Amino acid sequence: MIYTIISTCFNHLHIYLRYIRKESVYVKKLTIMLTVSAFALSVLMTGCGTSRWYKGVTHLHTLWSDGDQLPELAVNWYKTNGYAFVAVSDHNTLLRGEKWKDVTALDAKYKIVAESSRLFGPATVRTLQADGRTTIRLTTMDELVGMFSGCKDFILIDNQEITAKSNVASTNNVHLNAVNLHDNVSVYNGGTTESCAVENVERARSLAGKGRDPVHLHLNHPNWTHSHSAEEMARIIDIDSFELFNGGGYSHNLGDSFSASCERAWDIATTIRLTKQQTRPFYAVATDDAHNYHSISGACPPGRGWIMVRAKRLEANELVMAMNRGDFYASTGVELGAIDYDSEKGVISLEVKAKEGVEYSIEFIGTLKNAVIEPHEKFMNDNKGRPIKVTGVYSPEIGKVLKTVKSARAEYKLTGEELYVRVAVRSSVLVPDSKEKENYQSAWTQPYGWEKLLKINK
Ligand SMILES: [Zn+2]
Ligand SMILES: [Zn+2]
Repeated sequence: MIYTIISTCFNHLHIYLRYIRKESVYVKKLTIMLTVSAFALSVLMTGCGTSRWYKGVTHLHTLWSDGDQLPELAVNWYKTNGYAFVAVSDHNTLLRGEKWKDVTALDAKYKIVAESSRLFGPATVRTLQADGRTTIRLTTMDELVGMFSGCKDFILIDNQEITAKSNVASTNNVHLNAVNLHDNVSVYNGGTTESCAVENVERARSLAGKGRDPVHLHLNHPNWTHSHSAEEMARIIDIDSFELFNGGGYSHNLGDSFSASCERAWDIATTIRLTKQQTRPFYAVATDDAHNYHSISGACPPGRGWIMVRAKRLEANELVMAMNRGDFYASTGVELGAIDYDSEKGVISLEVKAKEGVEYSIEFIGTLKNAVIEPHEKFMNDNKGRPIKVTGVYSPEIGKVLKTVKSARAEYKLTGEELYVRVAVRSSVLVPDSKEKENYQSAWTQPYGWEKLLKINK
């Protein structure tokens, strides 16, 4: 872009010089020199230090499935609350085609039709009144893009929550988000939760093959209905990330009497993948899974979990490529000023954008190469006596806190003995209205220092 602008200016200069004097060797040389300079300048300006952080959400619902808000009003909530990108993820559908929804009860209570008309103009709202009921045509993705096109620093991204069921009676939910996928997936139902997830991952990947836009696949709420143990997630090789935090009220992010927390499961799965599986770790996202937009204390309100992505441009492919290389962090309220990993020196440094009156604890967490790893899934009976598969109990050496700094700034130098190191920043402030009592606002980086290990072992 910058290159185009600069070279266009120099081309105009060239034309002007041609006008005032006959084409000469001098002018040709000058033009070549200026063009090369423009290119070099553009490389310098776009290639160095121009990346910035973009706040976004990749899991939310609207009336296109089981959310309780019109798509334009759900998106508007995020826009007005400082998000740069929104990827609406309704169940098994993109926001395409014509869909009508009965909103009689919702509209009587929350006046959503009038609110949409007030914000976007009456021409965008199409309703039918019959037998005392109000039906509304839902806004499509293309229309949403048009409605928000005038907003600076804000984009929408295609997404869908692939929503499947396995044949396992007690823990049968397999939910997976396909961020930036532009085709509806033919969803597979059946098998175990593991084979069902693997099959749906493959189906999504097949729609994002060569020459198409990059896609990011995240496995959702593993502790909801005990869908996925850590060991199982370790074996679903082709996922890009999982929900370490899901803002929904039934997600059990911190674990329950049957299963480990999502954070603990992540360390176990990362350790298994880097040793037994010899494959890369998957990353962590935080999401809302918003369904309920009319009360912050509802089961699944917006605004509890998000990601911060470091990219050069606010553009869907740029953001997804950054996510796929792990250049993002998950947050439930802690903002980071800087994260740097110097792979040559093996140094991770991090700074928190500290808020007045809030205390921060920065933990560097990892598994050392000499830790005892014995993968084993655990089977228990749930409250109804049905067998459930949950994350096993492992040595505390897995996902061990290697260093804690009670400050807004910290650094860690890898010794070479770590399989990986990740950073968790915990604050003294609770996630608002969380259904889980000990849920403090936090930020989580992705794991560092594992790439060399895989290269050496290959
Ligand atoms: Zn779900
Ligand atoms: Zn969902």
